[in-house]
Amino acid sequence: MAAGNWKMNLTVGAARKLVDDLKKLSFSMGAVDVLVAPPMLLVPHATEWVKGSSVMVAAQNLHHEPKGAFTGEVSASMVKEAGCTHVLIGHSERRHVFGEPEEWMGRKVRAALAAGLTPVLCVGEKLAEREAGSTLEVVGRQLEALAGVGQDDVIGVIVAYEPVWAIGTGRTATPGDAQEVHSFVRRRLGEAHGREVAERMRILYGGSVSPSTIAGLIAEPDVDGTLVGGASLDSESFMAIIRASAKR
Ligand code: PGA
Repeated sequence: MAAGNWKMNLTVGAARKLVDDLKKLSFSMGAVDVLVAPPMLLVPHATEWVKGSSVMVAAQNLHHEPKGAFTGEVSASMVKEAGCTHVLIGHSERRHVFGEPEEWMGRKVRAALAAGLTPVLCVGEKLAEREAGSTLEVVGRQLEALAGVGQDDVIGVIVAYEPVWAIGTGRTATPGDAQEVHSFVRRRLGEAHGREVAERMRILYGGSVSPSTIAGLIAEPDVDGTLVGGASLDSESFMAIIRASAKR
């Protein structure tokens, strides 16, 4: 899987052009699931544009309550109704720039699943946490958002490991660093939900993925795909990443 997180970028015109390029490629790339996460106002456009192709659309966030006085937010059923199949949950910018608390993550995951959306749960440590040697502890704690989710549901959840220090910095984790955390994530998922379930769950890597770093990352056994920010805004570079992501 190659997922593009557009963050707060692109106009309607530029987004349309990008989706059109991806649609052409996706016909010949059946082996790679292609997902784009546009800004919320572009979502209804994007879900129309991808029709007739295998490109899927994710929202970048949702609120866990079904409705109410939550100015600026959208619910899981709104995201679903707009035509999304997936939703990012707990992206590091939501956690660290907008201060979303850890205890919301499990609620968001459950709200997404209840609405029939596939959650992409983002986890990852800050630089100081890595330097303090607490990467696995931090990631393990963030995975608790999946506690209490039944086996049938959890198997469809996607986990994205995105070290905060690698996001938008041009500093990608080495394939070995990524694999170490991905195998830990899979082990933890196995302990919580059973080994067979964990084997089938997808774990994406994100953080400054580029056409030049994709090959090494995707070659790691527990890296099942990527969540790409900056490099997904340009069709040439995102398509190079998609082509290099053929794996499962
Ligand atoms: P980046 O962003 O590829 O620009 O580092 C990744 C992400 O935040 O999902």
